[in-house]
Amino acid sequence: MVHNKVVIIGSGPGAHTAAIYLSRAELKPVLYEGMLANGTAAGGQLTTTTDVENFPGFPDGINGTELMEHMRKQSARFGTEIITETISKLDLSQRPFKMWTEWNDGPDNPPARTADAVIIATGANARRLDLPGEEKYWQNGISACAVCDGAVPIFRNKPLYVIGGGDSAAEEAMFLAKYGSSVTVLVRRDKLRASKAMANRLLSHPKVTVRFNTVAVEVLGEDKPMGLMTNLRVKDTITGKEEVVDANGLFYAVGHDPATALVKGQVELDNEGYIITQPGTSYTNIRGVFACGDVQDKKYRQAITSAGSGCIAALEAEKYLAESESPESEETRPSAEDRSTVQPAAQEVGRGETKKDLKGTTGEYRQNPLL
Ligand code: FAD
Ligand code: NDP
Repeated sequence: MVHNKVVIIGSGPGAHTAAIYLSRAELKPVLYEGMLANGTAAGGQLTTTTDVENFPGFPDGINGTELMEHMRKQSARFGTEIITETISKLDLSQRPFKMWTEWNDGPDNPPARTADAVIIATGANARRLDLPGEEKYWQNGISACAVCDGAVPIFRNKPLYVIGGGDSAAEEAMFLAKYGSSVTVLVRRDKLRASKAMANRLLSHPKVTVRFNTVAVEVLGEDKPMGLMTNLRVKDTITGKEEVVDANGLFYAVGHDPATALVKGQVELDNEGYIITQPGTSYTNIRGVFACGDVQDKKYRQAITSAGSGCIAALEAEKYLAESESPESEETRPSAEDRSTVQPAAQEVGRGETKKDLKGTTGEYRQNPLL
């Protein structure tokens, strides 16, 4: 059994940003990138898309898989040990934390690794509907992220459809209205789930039509390799009547599934299964367990926000480890109230100061007066 100070579970922008910071802080992080964990390749959700045009630093856009390869290289460059296995079992009930890998997690198997700190960056998966035609036109008209894909030329001045009745559907529809000739939202019930304010904005938007009691039943389009979708068969759930409408874009906003089965029952989750972190931090309810990326963010769900939260998780894990090792300082994970007042750790570790027990490493959190 191998012990490490810090293990990162996941392989998206959140995980790799945490790895870059922790390896530069010479904490020798181990990153389990997964072996098709939750059906997604190592590298996470961006490996399932084509061009990413809103990640800063790439003025001409960059292919999603290529962006993740760059991040992986950068993690490895500073000494992150990357393991292509899926963590299937975690024991966070005692320290050090214990973890097992897929296929080696039986009751008689010893843990593959133990760690003083764990960063959960397992991400989330956009739900799909498995409609006939969905596989063929996925990313050729169908998308699960309007903010990511809405601006591409195939959607300009074209009739677009959104499925869902929640806040995401409302936001996505209004975002798409900037590009499409019209946007129609298909809501399966007779009411929206979105907040009142959002629902009002949606219903009064001049370019958006909301069709209640309506579902999509089939995606139709060009019959050639890489052909684009052109139509959608929709069904009125009250009358059962079906019709084929012109549709050059179809955006799913039917919810996401956060990858939290691994920590369920141990880490505090909200009623939709997302990890609860203290606002503005990566702190979970367990000291030494941090979360970043989409697994704890149901609102923004972007590569850059995941990367930003990965940075926060690394800095907070680094601080936690330094404090745990300090003989004179008691571990102090601040409560929400403490963080708005003066914290002992913040007093001890000021701008550019070095704690005497830190053996000369150059942690970036120590330049941050807020930590
Ligand atoms: P994720 O990308 O969700 O990756 C987590 C990965 O960790 C998993 O996929 C899996 O490989 C691994 N993993 C999970 N569980 C385990 C385990 N138990 N053990 C080991 N490994 C595990 N955002 C943008 O900003 N711009 C875009 O253009 C854009 N386009 C998108 C297009 C599509 C089709 C999709 C689906 C999303 C897009 N997004 C885009 C959103 C963006 O991909 C996500 O917000 C971001 O990837 C989330 O990063 P994350 O770090 O939370 O991890
Ligand atoms: P939600 O779970 O809130 O909404 C999903 C919607 O998709 C529901 O209307 C649901 O219908 C519909 N749906 C689910 N499955 C199907 C299906 N098979 N066919 C047709 N429709 C289906 O997810 P969101 O992503 O919208 O929101 C998640 C959370 O994030 C919420 O708490 C939300 O408030 C928050 N959020 C907040 C934002 C903001 O404040 N700006 C922006 C985005 C999200 P039904 O209602 O019938 O179940």
